[in-house]
Amino acid sequence: MTKAKIAMKTPLVEMDGDEMTRILWQMIKEKLILPYVDLKTEYYDLGLKHRDETDDQVTADSANAALRLGVAVKCATITPNAQRVEEYGLKKMWKSPNGTIRAILDGTVFRAPILVRGIEPFVSTWKKPITIARHAYGDVYKASETAVPQGARAEIVVTDSNGAETRTLIHDFASGAGVVQGMHNIDGSIASFARSCFNYALATAQDLWFATKDTISKKYDHRFKDIFAEIYEAEYKEKFAQKGIEYFYTLIDDAVARVIRSEGGFIWACKNYDGDVMSDMVATAFGSLAMMTSVLVSPDGIFEYEAAHGTVQRHYYAHLKGQQTSTNSMATLFAWTGALRKRGELDGSAALAAFADKLETAAIRTIEDGVMTKDLFLLSKAENKRAVDTEAFILAVRDNLGKSL
Ligand code: NAP
Ligand code: MG
Repeated sequence: MTKAKIAMKTPLVEMDGDEMTRILWQMIKEKLILPYVDLKTEYYDLGLKHRDETDDQVTADSANAALRLGVAVKCATITPNAQRVEEYGLKKMWKSPNGTIRAILDGTVFRAPILVRGIEPFVSTWKKPITIARHAYGDVYKASETAVPQGARAEIVVTDSNGAETRTLIHDFASGAGVVQGMHNIDGSIASFARSCFNYALATAQDLWFATKDTISKKYDHRFKDIFAEIYEAEYKEKFAQKGIEYFYTLIDDAVARVIRSEGGFIWACKNYDGDVMSDMVATAFGSLAMMTSVLVSPDGIFEYEAAHGTVQRHYYAHLKGQQTSTNSMATLFAWTGALRKRGELDGSAALAAFADKLETAAIRTIEDGVMTKDLFLLSKAENKRAVDTEAFILAVRDNLGKSL
C-alpha cells in the first residue's frame, strides 16, 4: 500500500554544496524527503567546482532565485583559501558564498540550537533554545586603524558634500604613543537588521531582546537603540501585542546577566561584535556545533535555511578513503524541515508544514531513544546510548518517521 506523496505548490530554492555535507544532502533527500513529498526545487549547484566553472555566477543566481521564490535551503559550502585554490585548481579565490548571498538578500543570520533530552545545556536554567541574531555589517569589522606616535593628535574629520569639515578630538597623544580606530555603521543597515529581527520574532512567536552600550556610546550605540525603538513603535508594536510577544531593550551587560539566569526561548539581537562573541558562547553552552541551525532572514521576509557548521572536511576525506563516518546530519536535516515548513505556511499547505514537524520529531526521538552519531554519543546522558554511522542514523530517523505517518 503506497500513500500519496505530499504536493508542493511553489518550488524551494535548493543550494547544493560541498564535501561531507553534500553527501548528507543527498542522503536526506533520498531517504527522508523524496519518499514522502513530491519535492519541487529550483536547483543551484554551489559546489566549489561549479562555482568556479560559472565564475561564481551561480551563487548570485541562487540568491536572486531566493528573492523571487521566498524560501531557500542551503548546504554548507567551502569558502576558498589558498590551499583550496590549489586543491581545486580554481581560477580565483572566490568570495564566501554566504557573504554573497547575505549581501544580495540584505539579511540577518539567526542561529538556534536543537535541544534534545539527554544532552543538557551547560547552563542548567536553560530549557528552551536561545536564538542569536548578529548584525553582520560594519563596526570593528569594517574599521580603519593605525598606530599613533607620541606628540600626535588624532581627530575624527567628517567632510560633508559641500566640503565643510567637522572635527572631533579623539585623543592628544602628547604624553605617549598609542593606537586609534575609526569605525562606522549605516542607518539603512541598522534598520534592515531591526526589521529582520522584528519579523523573525513574529514568525517564531518569541520575545526579542536587544542590547547596546548606549550609556557610554551616546551617539553611536544610541543610534542603534533609537532606530530599533522608532521602527518598533511605527511598524511592530501592534503586531507584537497581537502575538503576545515583547520587545525588550536593555544595556548589554544587563542582557548578559539576564541571559544566563533565563530559561531561554527568546531571540537575542546583537551588534556585530557582541554577536560574534556571544554566538560562540551560546553554541558551546548548548553542547554541539552539529546541533546548531541557521536561517538568513531578509527585512522583507525571505528565508534561507542552513546548518551553522561547515562542510566537515575531515569526515569527507575519511569517507573518500572508504572509512566509516559518523557525521551528524541534524542541522542539515533541520535546514530542510525549516524550509519545507515555511514553504507550507506561505503556500497554505498544512500537510507540508505537518510533515516538517513530524520529521523533526522523529529525528529528535531517535536521539532521545539512544541512537546517535559519535559527536553526540560523547555528550549524551541517555541510557542504552549507541553510536552509529552517518547512514545508519538517517535510516533510524526514517524508521521513526514511518511510524508517525
Ligand atoms: P566544520 O565543517 O564546521 O567542521 C569542524 C569540525 O567540527 C569537524 O571536523 C568535526 O569535528 C566537527 N563537526 C562539525 N559539524 C559536524 C557534524 N555535522 N557532525 C559531526 N561533527 C561535526 O569546519 P571546518 O572543517 O573548519 O571547515 C570546513 C569547510 O567548511 C571550510 O572550507 C569552510 O570554508 C567551510 N564552512 C562553511 C560554512 C557554511 O557554508 N555555512 C560554515 C563554516 C565553514 P571532528 O573532526 O572532531 O569530528
Ligand atoms: Mg565568533
